[in-house]
Amino acid sequence: MNHHLTIKSDLFIGGEWRPGQSGDRFDVVDPADGTVVAQFAIATEGDCLDAVAAADAAASDWAATAPRERGEILRTAFEILTTERDQLAEVIVRENGKSWGDAIAEAGYATEFFRWFAEEAVRIPGDYRTSPGGDKNIIVTRRPIGVSLLITPWNFPAAMATRKLAPALAAGCTAILKPASETPLTAAYIVEALRRSGLPAGVVNLVTPVPTGPAVRAMLDHGAIRKLSFTGSTEVGRVLLANAAGSIISSSMELGGNAPLLVLPGADLEEAVSGALAAKMRNGGSACTSANRLYVHRSLHDEFVERFRSALDSFAIGSGLDRGNDIGALVSLKERDKVAALVDTAVAEGATISLGGETPVGAGAFYPPTLLTGVTHGSTITRTEIFGPVATVIEYDEVDEAIRMANDTEFGLIAYVFGPEGDAMRSAARIDAGMVGINRGVISDPAAPFGGVKQSGLGREGGTDGILEYLEEKYIATSR
Ligand code: NAP
Repeated sequence: MNHHLTIKSDLFIGGEWRPGQSGDRFDVVDPADGTVVAQFAIATEGDCLDAVAAADAAASDWAATAPRERGEILRTAFEILTTERDQLAEVIVRENGKSWGDAIAEAGYATEFFRWFAEEAVRIPGDYRTSPGGDKNIIVTRRPIGVSLLITPWNFPAAMATRKLAPALAAGCTAILKPASETPLTAAYIVEALRRSGLPAGVVNLVTPVPTGPAVRAMLDHGAIRKLSFTGSTEVGRVLLANAAGSIISSSMELGGNAPLLVLPGADLEEAVSGALAAKMRNGGSACTSANRLYVHRSLHDEFVERFRSALDSFAIGSGLDRGNDIGALVSLKERDKVAALVDTAVAEGATISLGGETPVGAGAFYPPTLLTGVTHGSTITRTEIFGPVATVIEYDEVDEAIRMANDTEFGLIAYVFGPEGDAMRSAARIDAGMVGINRGVISDPAAPFGGVKQSGLGREGGTDGILEYLEEKYIATSR
């Protein structure tokens, strides 16, 4: 780590950085070369319960602060992280492995959640009306839901943390953040930025338990937690929903995706190729929003494949610290090997490798940009979230058929449609997804509601309703 970066590698509980009760630590590894970047404190179950107690103790005072005061702390965090954007990006690169461009984009996106929710903190809506019978006044206010447990994945270690922390804190909730074990340093950097912004002790806490499951379960069973917000795999989400049932905890889930991308007849090929490259290759393909399946109409297929292939071929792959590289490392050798195995299975199931497909030798978790053509809808790779720089192209004849294939999944996070705007709008309306991008490959924005349908999740993050996930309505009746 550069000398100018002092990165915290301890737990943050009740306003103090401290090692875990056991004194044990785990390695945070740079996936680009396998070196150990830091040794992070392991939280015991006791540490995790201390964090819940600290958040609980701070809850009523924080809920009672003026919305403007909460907003201004978030605004300060926005300003600190904007000034330190390069440093935050560097931490992301070192523990996650992504390219510099992806890390800088994430740092900016992550920071924007603090600005957006600084602005939302002072706009919490309520309602006042006369009952239809005329006998009473119906007054509806909103209060913070309470202590919130926020669990995040490694693929966007900064943005997934701020997308939860910012609305929780803006709403007046206290929080415990549990980052992925691959990427705790980015979470610690953000928590420290909040401390430096003047957030009172106990309002945000950071824990990194090993093993994860039992400690999270103990926190959910503690009784003080009223909200669980999770981003990660559908598999773990299912377990957490079951665990949250014990104490009837309100749960928001941002889970897996299997995004289809449709290129309709008449699409502008240049727009479709550059949009598909962004939708597929952003974050090295390690995104829940990544275009997993490219359905291209027969009339455009060959030229689309040729242009896509030659663009991919020009991508530079290597360490994210070298700012010229387009694609960084995957988060770990384990993830890289999963991607490689998926490509091998696709080939065994009849796909053709048009580019890439060979695992490089060396210590880094690299996998080359890869293009598979002749992929059959329904084959393993079209049913699995790839989470790597591998594009699969499926040729189709009829738009109805493409839409049927797009919807043929238990997921429904996002879809992309490229084509003449009217046609694309009509197709977008027929796709079962929480979000659709038309003639563009990147759509995430703190001001827009992010979330999925079907097994991609429950609830929305960001947008004008994002804060509502952390608020509960309270109805007060008065006589007229
Ligand atoms: P993951 O294995 O589900 O892990 C996510 C988080 O859950 C990590 O903090 C992990 O902690 C924790 N966890 C794992 N097992 C747990 C358990 N039994 N109890 C409590 N917590 C547990 O997912 P991932 O591989 O890191 O992330 C990739 C997945 O996230 C993909 O499916 C992707 O689509 C999804 N994702 C979704 C969105 C969205 O908004 N829909 C956004 C980004 C990513 P440890 O690291 O300590 O195991």
